[in-house]
Formats: sequence, C-alpha cells, structure tokens
Amino acid sequence: MTDRSSAISRNLNEILQRVRDASLKSGRDETACELLVVSKTWPAESLAEVAAAGHLSFGENKVQEAEWKVPALQKITTQNFQWHLIGHLQRNKVRKALPLFGTIHSIDSLKLARSISKTACELKLKPDIYLQVDLAGEITKNGYAPEELRRDLDELFLFEGFHIKGLMCIPPAAKSPEDARPWFVRLRELRDELEVSAGVSLPGLSMGMSGDFEVAIEEGATIVRVGSSIFGSRNY
Ligand SMILES: *Cc1c(COP(=O)(O)O)cnc(C)c1O
Repeated sequence: MTDRSSAISRNLNEILQRVRDASLKSGRDETACELLVVSKTWPAESLAEVAAAGHLSFGENKVQEAEWKVPALQKITTQNFQWHLIGHLQRNKVRKALPLFGTIHSIDSLKLARSISKTACELKLKPDIYLQVDLAGEITKNGYAPEELRRDLDELFLFEGFHIKGLMCIPPAAKSPEDARPWFVRLRELRDELEVSAGVSLPGLSMGMSGDFEVAIEEGATIVRVGSSIFGSRNY
C-alpha cells in the first residue's frame, strides 16, 4: 500500500468509529447512522481503497462524473456498490442518472419528482429518494422551501416510481459545528411535523458533512455525507 492509500483507510476507520461513538453518545444504537463516503472529484483508484476496507457506498454530486467513475471502479473491483446522487439533478439528466444511482438525495420540486417517477417506471427501477429542504432560504442553494414541501407532500407520496426515505439538508456554511445544530434541529422538527400532518413516514434524515457530522448525528441524522475528512481536501 502507498502512503496515500493507507491514509484513506485510516481516515475511513476513524470516521466510522466517530459515527458509532456519536450515535452511542446520543443514546442511539451504534448502527443508527450510516456513513456515505462522498467521492466527488476523486478518481476510481481512491474509491478502490475505500472499497478494499469494506465500505461500498459512495456519494457523487454530478451525473457526468458518475458516468465515467462507476464503470471505472467496476473495472478495478466487481464488488456491488451503492451510488448516491447528492448534487442537484436537472430534469434532462434523469434518464442518465437513474441507472447509475440507487438513491437520490436532492429532490426539490414536483416537476423533478414527476420526471423521476415516470422514467423510473419505464426503466423498471425504484430509487430511494430524499426531499432536499432549503431551511435558510438561501438563493444560491437548491431545495424545497418548507412551505412548498408542506403543499406538495401528499402529491409526492402518490408517485409510484420511487420510495421516499426522508429529508435532506445542507445548512449554510458555518465556522463551528455548533452553528449547524439549529438547522439540524429544524430539519428533524419539520420531519416530525410532516409525519403527523400528512400521516406519512419519513424515517431518513440525510444531514451532516465532514465539519459537523457528529452534531448532525446527535440531532437524529440517519445518514451523514463525509468526503474531505476521508480523502483530504478537494482540488477542483
Ligand atoms: C461535497 C458534499 C459533501 C461532503 O462534504 P465534505 O465537507 O467534503 O465532507 C456532503 N454533501 C454534499 C451535498 C456535498 O456536495
């Protein structure tokens, strides 16, 4: 193993341990929160190091990047990977995205949901999805405004081409992990509210990144999306 690759597996094991510790610390089961390794910008060889350590789920933010990376990784190893799309999805990319990604974290409109459902039914696929919420009303961020989500929720649950796992958020950039806590609390409270008002189940909370995943787990995250703490800083 090269120094780099051993660094990746060391980092991965450290993060997995911290995920388990944060779950236990907050009185949850140690398996209550899943780790999604965010592999955007990294080549298939780096992902193979993570796979060699036994971790098989990856998050990518661009369909175009996944189009080369998924087959490139499959050339190195034939393990069965789970790919999650964590970036914004344009409707004209839905047909390309669905065969690549089993989970999509970034559903932010009824139009996109309709397009995914229709195409998924055609392709006989049924992805898991998260509804992305823009809690802070940031113009630069994608995501449902909470009031739009309240309005659309019943209709979203009528689509047959996907399975709704829960809610996702990307809080505003913060200096300290504690700054993100109020946003994680708000996502959980919105989830609790919607489950009661719409009589639906939204068990999943996709929240928390390298800088704040332990706080997210304390507030109920069921999947954290961690990249740079495992691979190092990205060079775009
Ligand atoms: C890049 C990215 C992450 C991971 O961020 P890190 O700070 O590198 O852990 C998580 N979620 C989304 C949506 C991202 O785009």
